[in-house]
Amino acid sequence: MGHPAVVDMNRFLPLPDPGVEGPDAERRSRRFLGSIVEAATAWWWRGVCMHTAVRCRRRPGRGPRCQGHVVVLSTEAPREILWSCSICASGGVVRGHRWSPWDLSEVPLRGDPGMAFWPRARLSPPEHRALLRELPVARPLWRLLRAAETTPEGVLVTGPSVEFAALLAAARRQAAAMGGRRRRGLLAAAADRLLDGLVEEEPDRGPRAAGARRP
Ligand SMILES: [Zn+2]
Repeated sequence: MGHPAVVDMNRFLPLPDPGVEGPDAERRSRRFLGSIVEAATAWWWRGVCMHTAVRCRRRPGRGPRCQGHVVVLSTEAPREILWSCSICASGGVVRGHRWSPWDLSEVPLRGDPGMAFWPRARLSPPEHRALLRELPVARPLWRLLRAAETTPEGVLVTGPSVEFAALLAAARRQAAAMGGRRRRGLLAAAADRLLDGLVEEEPDRGPRAAGARRP
């Protein structure tokens, strides 16, 4: 692997000015580990493994990319994020992420704090990545997207209904404004799934009631 097993996020700070990205390897590590920190800190649960939507970046033998996703576990003492690939042997430990630019744990969310009635939607991985890539999202919506989990049925997006509806609106707006049939199509499909999640009535839904967790 191109990065050491234990990484302190402070090594990536201060962030470079836009357009001055630095060496490729450094930029890729910063982006990859930053995504891991965002997912781990965005998530709602502590002390429980999370199957993030962050893709493994390994290319065994320079062949096709590993199809695994990153699994994280946050610990409090010491404050670390342990991460590993769901398929290959990649993994490591991240420190120094608290209060860093990638720490989403303090991003406030509007609306119902009791997760019981949160709407949820399952997106295909390309749809979810399209939202991450194309939406000029506010921090709360970014938190929803980063807190998404990989499940066997797709990428599970959930959150308070106010924020969930705001995400849907942003996806629709961007789909309407977007050129390029494929990119627009992915956003529109993501918006459809979010809409389905918003209008669906399920009495006991919530992140833990998904019923489709990994074994
Ligand atoms: Zn892997």
